[in-house]
Amino acid sequence: MSWDIYGNPLARGHCEVHPHVHEEYPCYVCMAEKQQRQQRDQQSEAEYYMQMEIDNLKRDMAEYKKESSDKTGKILKMNDVLWGVLAMIDESWGASSDAEIALVDDIKAILKGGE
Ligand SMILES: [Zn+2]
Repeated sequence: MSWDIYGNPLARGHCEVHPHVHEEYPCYVCMAEKQQRQQRDQQSEAEYYMQMEIDNLKRDMAEYKKESSDKTGKILKMNDVLWGVLAMIDESWGASSDAEIALVDDIKAILKGGE
């Protein structure tokens, strides 16, 4: 006799994590959950690096603004980078979470300020 993860007897050929599923572990529900987890992990990792990148850009931007106007070229270049980041967010998953929406707002604010 085998047991599911909740300590209940498990019928032969059923998933131990999802005892109601008549499929051995890992069943299709396991696979779907695993995929969801991976997607979430990848997304939050991407968000983390993106946020770091934005923070760096913001700092650089503030520095350039403090300096004289001959840095305009650099600011223009920076705007290109920011537009690139916006396009990247759009292409990869769109701004769905609060963090992403805040990020996009941030970038747009910087782009407005840099004009
Ligand atoms: Zn399962």
